[in-house]
Amino acid sequence: MTDKKDKPAPKMEERLYQNRYQVDEGRSHVQIHQQNKGDSPELQAMTDLCPAGCYRLNEAGRVEVVADGCMECGSCRIVCQSTGEIEWSYPRGGYGILFKFG
Ligand code: SF4
Repeated sequence: MTDKKDKPAPKMEERLYQNRYQVDEGRSHVQIHQQNKGDSPELQAMTDLCPAGCYRLNEAGRVEVVADGCMECGSCRIVCQSTGEIEWSYPRGGYGILFKFG
């Protein structure tokens, strides 16, 4: 029998892998309103800051979001609040992330 305290703590990636997502097809709860002058530094920073990797640069060098794996942390909402580029809401009931604790 293995004592619980003898087991190494799981890595963050292993913990995140336990989460499950119910994707609301065609109704992303995070959307970008792109500006003609280009993406703000705040929006560009989300390609590094989003813990779920939802933000990336497309071939045109603009930021895009695929929120299927969103953890609903709200970081992008806060970071981009002053720029107005992000429209953010919680997913509809029954959709979004399903956290597994323990
Ligand atoms: S709420 Fe958090 S996890 Fe979801 S897209 Fe924004 S930064 Fe990423």
